[in-house]
Amino acid sequence: MEIPVVTGLILGGIISLMVKIGLDEFAKNRAKLAESEQAYQAALSELRAYPNDSEKRENALRLGREFSRLSREDNKETVYDELAIKNDIDAACAGSFVEAGRDEVECPSCAELVLRKAVRCKHCGHDLAFLVAGV
Ligand SMILES: [Zn+2]
Repeated sequence: MEIPVVTGLILGGIISLMVKIGLDEFAKNRAKLAESEQAYQAALSELRAYPNDSEKRENALRLGREFSRLSREDNKETVYDELAIKNDIDAACAGSFVEAGRDEVECPSCAELVLRKAVRCKHCGHDLAFLVAGV
C-alpha cells in the first residue's frame, strides 16, 4: 500500500514544480512588459524634446509596437494598439506644430491640439464643424 503514497508525492512534486515554473514565467513576462513600457515612454519623451527628429519618431513607433505585442495575450498587436501609438506619437510631436506657429485649438473630446480650420479631430475623429462655424 506504499505505492499510491509514493505516486501521490511524485505527482504533488511535479504539480508544484509546474506551478512554480508558471509563476516564474508570469513574473518574467510582467518584468519584460514593464521594461518595454518604460522604454516606450522614454522614447516618447525624447521625441517630445525633438519633435522633428524622424529617427526618434521611428524609434518610438518600434518600441510602442513591441510594448503592444507584449501586452497582448496572443503577442499580436491590434489596429487599436496601432492607433494608440499613433496618438501618442502625434501628441509627442504636437510641440513642433506650435513652434511652426500654426493656429490650433484644443479638441473638446480628446484635448489634443488640432488646426482651428479642421472640421474633424485628427486624433479621435470628433466632429469639430461647430468650432469652425464659431458657434
Ligand atoms: Zn479629438
